[in-house]
Amino acid sequence: MKDRKIDPTKTEKGIHLEDIIETLHKHYPDADADPIRRAYAFASQAHAGQVRLSGQPYLSHPMNVALILARLKMLPPVIAASLIHDTLEDTGATAETLEETFGKEITRLVEGVTKLSMIRTSSREERQASNVRKMIMAMSDDIRVLLIKLADRLHNMRTLDYLEPDRKRAIAEETIDIYAPLANRLGIHWIKNELEDLSFKYLHPLEYKRLSRLMKERKEDLDKFILTIVNQTRDILMKERISAEVSGRHKHIYGIHKKMRQQLLDFDQLFDIIGVRIIANSNEDCYRALGLIHENYKPVLGKFKDYIALPKENGYQSLHTAVLSPTGKRMEFQIRTQQMHRISEEGIAAHWRYKEGGSVKPGKQDDHFIWLRRLQDIDHTADSSREFLENLKMDLFPDEVYVFTPDQEVMAFSSGATALDFAYAIHTQVGHRCVGVKINAESVPISSKLRNGDIVEILTSENQRPGKSWLKIAKTSHAKSLIRSYIRNAQREEALRLGRELVEEELKKYGLDCKRYCTNLSLEKAAEAMGFKNSEILLERIGSSKLPVYHFLQKLLPPEEWKKIQDASKSSLKNLFFKLIRRRKVAQNIGVKVGSTDNMLIRFAGCCNPVPGDAIIGNISKGHGIVIHNKSCSLIKEMASDPEKFVEAQWERPEKKQLHPVRIVAHAVNRPGILAKVSAAIAESQANINNAVVQVTDLHHGELNLTIEIEDLEHLERVMDAVRNVDGVRRVERGLDAGRPAKK
Ligand code: MN
Repeated sequence: MKDRKIDPTKTEKGIHLEDIIETLHKHYPDADADPIRRAYAFASQAHAGQVRLSGQPYLSHPMNVALILARLKMLPPVIAASLIHDTLEDTGATAETLEETFGKEITRLVEGVTKLSMIRTSSREERQASNVRKMIMAMSDDIRVLLIKLADRLHNMRTLDYLEPDRKRAIAEETIDIYAPLANRLGIHWIKNELEDLSFKYLHPLEYKRLSRLMKERKEDLDKFILTIVNQTRDILMKERISAEVSGRHKHIYGIHKKMRQQLLDFDQLFDIIGVRIIANSNEDCYRALGLIHENYKPVLGKFKDYIALPKENGYQSLHTAVLSPTGKRMEFQIRTQQMHRISEEGIAAHWRYKEGGSVKPGKQDDHFIWLRRLQDIDHTADSSREFLENLKMDLFPDEVYVFTPDQEVMAFSSGATALDFAYAIHTQVGHRCVGVKINAESVPISSKLRNGDIVEILTSENQRPGKSWLKIAKTSHAKSLIRSYIRNAQREEALRLGRELVEEELKKYGLDCKRYCTNLSLEKAAEAMGFKNSEILLERIGSSKLPVYHFLQKLLPPEEWKKIQDASKSSLKNLFFKLIRRRKVAQNIGVKVGSTDNMLIRFAGCCNPVPGDAIIGNISKGHGIVIHNKSCSLIKEMASDPEKFVEAQWERPEKKQLHPVRIVAHAVNRPGILAKVSAAIAESQANINNAVVQVTDLHHGELNLTIEIEDLEHLERVMDAVRNVDGVRRVERGLDAGRPAKK
């Protein structure tokens, strides 16, 4: 060490390890400093050779952070963690090494701080800033992580001078938007004030210089003045045997700047105003103290506020008054009890009151403040700080998670929300077209739950359409209602189309000319006669078989035609719908024959994707015609008790070659390149892949969910065999169950 110019144990402010330990022992004489010494040794080795932009050894940074935390009355684990807080991010150290050397508690703290430093913000919008603040809170599962982060930021702000101008500005903005309010939330006002002043210095350098010069000129006088008033006040109270703490303060630079802006006052009007705080033992003493202050100093009219009798909406209680000093200087007094003081110092507490809409009754014991009292001494054990943060989180965002868009925008969701909810939150069309999602650059199912800090990217396809199964995947009411309305519209259109066809069929059945009887005009007339708003609603009702077409014809046709039909028809109304469907003529050969005739209103089920060669069955579904299912489809098995809903179906040669989508699931060893090999095998078997979702099931295994296009069963078997032969694939099966993502 002798030959080094800079003693690495000294920081730029000359901090030595022993200073930190001495500060610790001032608060906790018996505390074991060993973890701190070991962390120091570890950090000096890990950061050896690293130099800060200031030219100081890197170690000076964690040393200063540790000293700040020691002054905040932190215990050895926190101080030790702060000494090594940058080793995971900036040196070769791994979490495993840390855990071996320092154990779980300290390692968790370091990991927590490292995780927070991954959060980057770019936007200055207030909503964004507030979301980022919440995200930081949500991501720290230990309050001590936040405290280390604040101390880290404080020291970085103190040494910001050495950075590039752009970086300085960005960090100062982030500090004033995110970290100063966090410090305020945690009730550490001196950190909040210093962070604000330092940010102000870099954001508005000229104004900062002007104000600090003005302050410096008058600070000495002002400090003397404050001391005089505080002593006078103490004497006044003592004479009347009121025991109270009295303190005085002047505003910090940023506070003055803010007030100047908000109230359009100039420096002279603000600077001289000092604050005096009296903390008494009881409400009664507060009022007595107020009386004494008014007796001894001249009150300013209209400035007295009794927030004890009438607490502010957020629960804040205090007596406020402004008085003039003997020399005519304005002084603001706040008089309150210890309990009220704690509440006023703590933003979260205010929040609770606000939410409950009630007020704090003087002297009322309140469990919410137990953690708060702990925070005052900041003697955090792991348990109490975890409890604190849990309370904090429950209150601020009981069920929220915060995630990033690829553009680094933070979005808030209720907890349990899935990637599909995210897609709908971006845009309705992004939701409707969502085919896949990448979370933190990995493809995952759209049903994946969002976790704090995730970066979420949605993949879309023009051909995608929402299905009923999405209602189970989406958790937010926003997404659910969009999916529902899409499905409703799609069903309505389908019903409308079907209704038109049914009417045409029925007319043709009786040899009536559609063009003649079924004009727009006659349709509207009939609709009106039957009490429907318009003919579309009427046709929809027919198409969804809620209204027998037979009834409708009565209104549509001239009486003489109607009579003919009545005579001809022997069918019961009950079977009409079914019969009509069966009588449908071939309009388009899709390769399936239902019952004894071909049928145009046939669709293939999306759940089991039947292919030529499969045993199939037709399901008569309201408003959808006939849906062809694989006989082994789980949906069909569920409906087996209702045989009327089924009709026999067979494959037949289609006019044109048809491709059928089929889902297959390949269980494979989780190794790089496996998807590429499987894709190649499928391509070699002359099949296309429509969609592929890869899901990691455990450390060593993965699942490939593939939708491929094939011609028939024989082709499918060929493809599946090819996939089975890929090295690393364990098992391949057909997906027959409604496309539900595999359980984890
Ligand atoms: Mn740091």
